[in-house]
Amino acid sequence: MSIAYNKLQVIIDLDAICHNWQLLNQRSGNAIAVVKSDAYGHGLVETSRALAEAGATTFAVGTVEEALELRQSGVLDPAAHRVISLLGPIDDWEYATLAEHRILPFIGNFAQLSKLAENTARLDAPLPISLKFDTGMSRLGFTLETIGQLLAVLDNAPGLLPVMVSSHLATGDEPGNTAYVTRQSSDFLDILTKLSTAGYRVEANLANSGAILAHPDTHHDSQRAGIAMYGTNPFLGTPWEAKGQGLRQAMSVSAPVLDVHTLKQGQCVSYGCTYTAPQDMRIAIIGAGYADCYSRLLTNHASLCLHGTQVPIIGRVCMQMVAVDLRPLDEVGAKQAQVGDSAWLLGGTGDGYVTADQLAAWWGTITYEVFCLLGMNKKQFIQGDIS
Ligand SMILES: *Cc1c(COP(=O)(O)O)cnc(C)c1O
Repeated sequence: MSIAYNKLQVIIDLDAICHNWQLLNQRSGNAIAVVKSDAYGHGLVETSRALAEAGATTFAVGTVEEALELRQSGVLDPAAHRVISLLGPIDDWEYATLAEHRILPFIGNFAQLSKLAENTARLDAPLPISLKFDTGMSRLGFTLETIGQLLAVLDNAPGLLPVMVSSHLATGDEPGNTAYVTRQSSDFLDILTKLSTAGYRVEANLANSGAILAHPDTHHDSQRAGIAMYGTNPFLGTPWEAKGQGLRQAMSVSAPVLDVHTLKQGQCVSYGCTYTAPQDMRIAIIGAGYADCYSRLLTNHASLCLHGTQVPIIGRVCMQMVAVDLRPLDEVGAKQAQVGDSAWLLGGTGDGYVTADQLAAWWGTITYEVFCLLGMNKKQFIQGDIS
């Protein structure tokens, strides 16, 4: 469900996502496509369909409900494509639906495990599950300390078949914090050894985008690719920047110019009069605001792309509108703004292209959040040879 009443247009370049997945898959051998939270705002079903055509075979969503939506969309082959629920079952009905819809759940605590064991005790075939281990995130997962207890429970749970083992890195995208990666990675290896000693043959995965690109030593049977698949280089602006080269941003977001007028010297614009015109200047009012997930934190603090040029926000971001200073268009001799023109909150054309990293920096957040939030607006998908 997207935000219904607005004029924003999110454009998703599915070719870019497939290109990025292929790059990551080549780097890592076997890249699971992480498509949780509506594919980081890029559209769960459409993104998964395109990725499946590009060769992806495993898709990781968050909740079981998302997994169900993906299965029921019909874009995946039930026999050939795996769907993982990273959060695993939470509500009662979710436990009961896993087997029927071939959803592979991450299981990370004993309550979940026993409940699932009860639910699967009478199945004809055991339910494949992924064992989730905590090696340093301290969120969810079994640990090296509890693995003995885990093996004992599994011994008495004939309805459960562990086929995968996973853990998640806390600093895979931080060049300055490789020691923590090494520690997590070494704990993960201990876990794998214990499982294999106990006779379990499982597919192991640890690496996220950062580790796919920068830590080949953390690569196992498969890796889990998220943010880099959506075009963000986790190492931008760091000494490791080159490791994430060649990725293409897939999301662009436009909103229409609603009005163009002159702000006279000394006049202010928007609530609180936080911007006063230093001279007579042309401004435009754009139809996007914080109700569209274009954050009020961007007040006096970000630029939009208009006719290939970045124009800065002036004054506070309102619920459905924001004002921009049009003087940069004159400075570069660009076309004048007119009512109905597209202003790009993200993406755009020419030198004015707004990257997700730029917008995230202005916003005071990370590209993950920019994509998830702006992706809540209505989406249009482009793929193939569209000129
Ligand atoms: C979201 C997620 C990923 C993907 O991480 P990126 O940093 O976006 O590559 C991988 N594994 C798990 C368990 C996740 O929740």
